Amino acid sequence: MEMTTRPFIANTGQLDAIIVGAGIAGLYMLHRLRQAGLSVLVLERGKGVGGTWYWNRYPGARCDVESLEYSYSFSERLQQEWNWSERYSGQPEILDYINHVANRFDLLSGIQFGTKVEKARYDETHACWIINTDQGDRITSKFLIMATGCLSSANIPQIEGRESFKGATYHTGSWPHHEIDFSGQRVGVIGTGSSAIQAIPHIAAECESLTVFQRTANYSVPARNGTINKTYEAEVKANYAEFRKRNRMMPAALGSTFTGSNQSALEASPEEQQMEFAKRWNIGGFGFLGAYNDLTINKESNDVAAEFVRERIRETVADANTAGLLCPDSVIGCKRLCLDTNYFETYNMPHVHLVDIREDPIQRIMPTGIRCKNTVYELDDIVFATGFDAMTGTLLRIRITGRSGLTLQDAWKAGPRTYLGLTVKGFPNMFLISGPGSPSVLTNMIVSIEQHVEWIERCVSYILEKQYSAIEAEQGSQDGWVEHVNLIASKTLYPSCNSWYRGANIPGKPRVFMPHIGFPTYVAQCEEVESAGYSGFEFY
Ligand code: NAP
Repeated sequence: MEMTTRPFIANTGQLDAIIVGAGIAGLYMLHRLRQAGLSVLVLERGKGVGGTWYWNRYPGARCDVESLEYSYSFSERLQQEWNWSERYSGQPEILDYINHVANRFDLLSGIQFGTKVEKARYDETHACWIINTDQGDRITSKFLIMATGCLSSANIPQIEGRESFKGATYHTGSWPHHEIDFSGQRVGVIGTGSSAIQAIPHIAAECESLTVFQRTANYSVPARNGTINKTYEAEVKANYAEFRKRNRMMPAALGSTFTGSNQSALEASPEEQQMEFAKRWNIGGFGFLGAYNDLTINKESNDVAAEFVRERIRETVADANTAGLLCPDSVIGCKRLCLDTNYFETYNMPHVHLVDIREDPIQRIMPTGIRCKNTVYELDDIVFATGFDAMTGTLLRIRITGRSGLTLQDAWKAGPRTYLGLTVKGFPNMFLISGPGSPSVLTNMIVSIEQHVEWIERCVSYILEKQYSAIEAEQGSQDGWVEHVNLIASKTLYPSCNSWYRGANIPGKPRVFMPHIGFPTYVAQCEEVESAGYSGFEFY
């Protein structure tokens, strides 16, 4: 659904809150703050709601969290009345759902679409934020809430000659809103992350030839998608609140298939290991990584899981050389595990070719294709499935200036620093939803988003009730939090690979492990801070 720009009603005076972004986070934030009686405006660069699900319309785009979990839990009526059609929802259905929520809770009237925030500056004298947009708006607001998403700035690699290409180019994260017909086309896909792994089988089914340019092979387990199991759905809906509560207590806030284990892989015999992994492989989904309790912390255990997946790849892909190239050699789960439907099978199609660009690096894009060091590939279309400047990219593209002229770019020069992933020292009354330093991308995002939104709403209401001008993280508490986040990460296998969690996919980006590993303990930490009267913050 495309919305027309709603001009901001001038002379409204100062707002209580500006929310940047009308995705899942921004919409719920708007709803909560309105319920709390605040004057709020959402600024959204797209022409519709949905955030991630508005932009990522590539063929095969689908959620990797099950539908009954990847949905808002704040309204019992909403969760009862909405019916999902598949175990994992596709992008169009999720976008329909988000539009339904926006309509059902009358949220559209609070959103100005087609408006990009360019600058936000904290005015210390008046204790408010001054926000400038590309539409010429200048808006003042007491609170600034960044609901800008973790994966919302596309990463398009600077490959020489990119502009010279005569065919069409696409990025999975900013896909056109009209149907793309690949039939009869020679298509090149650069990248083999989650987006590519979903898109490749769909593009291959349509196009004349598909060339996949792979830099790093990726682990993927079957999603085992299908129509939703109605009996299971009825069971969940009969006690949805309990289901949500249980999921919120799980690592990663994932419930249904992520039954954990209290056992190390090393305590099981090789036969038991194979049976356990096979069981989870057949069920499909992220539950694969829950097979043993030490897969993310013990390399030896991790190796067993990794080899199980490599075996499945070798079994599936007929050409031994291609299978070998598709077998990752890194730690499984260290980069985001992918879920697929027929990804590896696609390489058995005669018109699908895999190019190992470590062996034969891309040198340049030419008007008619891609030139690698040893081979030239003639192409009609290039799909960049090259990911995002994750977690910090969108925040740093906005010029945010806090107290004493400190810019976020300067404050985060050596990597993002936050207190609880929610606030930044030097930036009073600014909140981040699922910011770096919070579990966000390592969880079911909606659970994390709801937790952040509700925490922020209570904090904002507290400030207004106490008639404080502002809240700001203390230096010591922020330093302590950053240290805590790094310490947890250092005890796991996560820092061992070049993932976007570490900023390693963006040339020049500081290598810092950004998310907090530790849901649901994290939630308790936020609650403790709150119940101690917001310890670690100063009010003025
Ligand atoms: P990604 O995981 O960052 O993958 C990007 C791919 O592009 C990688 O294979 C990367 O190779 C490659 N690449 C990047 N720069 C390159 C360059 N200069 N030359 C050649 N190759 C390059 O991005 P994504 O697939 O869009 O996924 C991002 C995240 O979005 C996922 O991890 C997941 O959290 C989320 N997502 C979720 C779903 C879902 O719910 N099912 C679907 C899609 C995305 P290297 O590995 O060598 O860097």
